[in-house]
Amino acid sequence: MTVSIADPRVGVPELDGLIETAAAGRLADGPEVRAFEAGVADRCGATRGVATSNGTTALHAALHALGIGAGDRVVTTPFSFVATANAVRLCGATPVFADVDPETLNLDPSAVREAIDGFDGGVDAVLAVHLYGLPAPMDELRAIADEHDVPLIEDAAQAHGAAVRGEPVGSLGDAACFSFYPTKNMTTGEGGMVLTDDEALADGIRSFVNHGRTDAYAHAEVGQNYRLTSLGAAIGRAQLDRLDDLVAVRRRNAARYDEALADNPSVDAPPDPSGVRHAYHQYTVRTDHRDALRDRLAAEGIDTGVYYPTPIHRQPAYADVDAAAPNAEAAAERVLSVPVHPQLSRSEVERVADALRGFRP
Ligand SMILES: *Cc1c(COP(=O)(O)O)cnc(C)c1O
Repeated sequence: MTVSIADPRVGVPELDGLIETAAAGRLADGPEVRAFEAGVADRCGATRGVATSNGTTALHAALHALGIGAGDRVVTTPFSFVATANAVRLCGATPVFADVDPETLNLDPSAVREAIDGFDGGVDAVLAVHLYGLPAPMDELRAIADEHDVPLIEDAAQAHGAAVRGEPVGSLGDAACFSFYPTKNMTTGEGGMVLTDDEALADGIRSFVNHGRTDAYAHAEVGQNYRLTSLGAAIGRAQLDRLDDLVAVRRRNAARYDEALADNPSVDAPPDPSGVRHAYHQYTVRTDHRDALRDRLAAEGIDTGVYYPTPIHRQPAYADVDAAAPNAEAAAERVLSVPVHPQLSRSEVERVADALRGFRP
């Protein structure tokens, strides 16, 4: 049996909630969605949650409701899933790519400063990604955003359950956007959510994701249909109950791999800085011998993934955006993710650990 890099199976508790919701005939928006919003907000230390159809639409709605539009610039990382930058483009704005820190692979605050200083009019927002589940340097980014009086948004699509000094990811920006795609740390099927403490912002997002509706048939602006279904919310509520356990298993698996790599000079374990709780959406090693490691793991029946082989500024879709991000480009050549998800059996984790320990180029 292959050890898979992601396993989107949903367990029995989720099916119970789903059957109840379906039997009640609630398929579109409804009370399950409100309860799910309140649950995620509460878990993440925010006062308001607005559920969306996926993580990309969460990002689009948050940026739009924060006033990001045509002609605006949003500083973000080029080393992320393309949806991060696409959300900026969906607002009609332009992403400004600042390079990542070579160790954490998250936005480098000094590169963010440089990128902002490169424009006379500055930028209009900072969009940080907690890559692989490791929180971005939010204190430094907060200071920069405050200096320039622009909002700081978290792309928390990979970081449910992560925290900084005990403060959960989702409560660290002016708005935080989650994805609940099946491979993420928790799922609703397709789904997403924006968290914020700003009531007016939450209202703006809720309206935008529902055709700009402010009242039964009153529409303040042209919005979208970006709503989550009750079925998704029913799965999400059951997943949320298990989130701490699911992330604890990811962290336990990661600790086994850290141990296995401690004496392997050819493969670097991912950073796990003190004071942060890494949610290990991915366990991503770096090595100069990626192809050899990948082949070795494949020979042992272990799937691997490269997230991401091409930084966003090197994608054809972003050919018109000028960016220098040598650290992101170097990382794209060296990263390799191994299975760390909570559906792995103990013996599968040991197989991965043994293969990592024994690898020599
Ligand atoms: C998955 C992901 C998204 C998009 O979420 P979808 O639910 O797939 O739309 C955005 N940003 C990051 C960093 C992601 O990993």
